[in-house]
Amino acid sequence: MVLVKRILVVLVVLVILISLGVLAALLLGSILPRTPLYRLIMSVSAVVFSLALILAAFNFYVNYGFGNQGDIVRRVRTPEKLVALTFDDGPSPAYTPQILDVLKEHDVQAAFFLVGQHVKQYPEIVARIYSEGHDIGNHTYSHINAPTTPAASLSSELLTTNIEIMKIIGEHPEYVRPARGMYDARFRRLAELMGMRMVLWSLSSQDWRGSTTPEKMKHRVLKEVQPGDIILFHDGGSLIRSEGASRQRTVDALADIIEGLRAVGYRIVPLSRLLRYPHLEDSDTDETTTPY
Ligand SMILES: [Zn+2]
Repeated sequence: MVLVKRILVVLVVLVILISLGVLAALLLGSILPRTPLYRLIMSVSAVVFSLALILAAFNFYVNYGFGNQGDIVRRVRTPEKLVALTFDDGPSPAYTPQILDVLKEHDVQAAFFLVGQHVKQYPEIVARIYSEGHDIGNHTYSHINAPTTPAASLSSELLTTNIEIMKIIGEHPEYVRPARGMYDARFRRLAELMGMRMVLWSLSSQDWRGSTTPEKMKHRVLKEVQPGDIILFHDGGSLIRSEGASRQRTVDALADIIEGLRAVGYRIVPLSRLLRYPHLEDSDTDETTTPY
């Protein structure tokens, strides 16, 4: 029972994190006077500390993973100021064409991680992405949460998306990115079997945040950017449903971000070109390797 085992592991991790949260609350409690408010403060802080730890662990897993993950690329090692832009969850008739316009105007080649059901709905946008020279990746058929998806559905999510993409562009996508960056050993094995490189990201524009603005996105990207970064945006999708969120802020921020990156010396290269450099977990690879 692989699923039972996985649920048990998640439960054990949750219990450990909640215990740490309660411990932190007890430490806080030891310096508070035992007034009637004491019990309330203790309960609230136990919940807050636990939630913070759970969120931090989740965030760490999504951004860095655990252990050695040589098959997963988040960032490449390069002394040059190079980055790649990636867009998830599309295609979307409302935003992808606008994003393609901005990219074309600035002569930028990006990568689009497409959701299979949107590929089926909007094949003409996929054809345009491809004809304008952008890289295309698989982002599952219905934006499933990989670790909780049964094995048969997981393979069909990836396979069906590849078939839908191939019907339009005549090529097998070379890259795959799990929805929300959540994956497990089965997902990695399937990616390998299907001959796709698993590409996550090292810098998120956080364009999905309700409180973000084009200015905040630009500020964040320009403040955090490092050579070799793979930068994440969204041209479709939604936090809970598979589509429907406004990505207008991403559209509005994009030209400024491209110009801002170039102003500080960055070159924006296609993902396929960036991936010729050794990725950061290839620790034994020579840093100065020229990727041609
Ligand atoms: Zn996504």
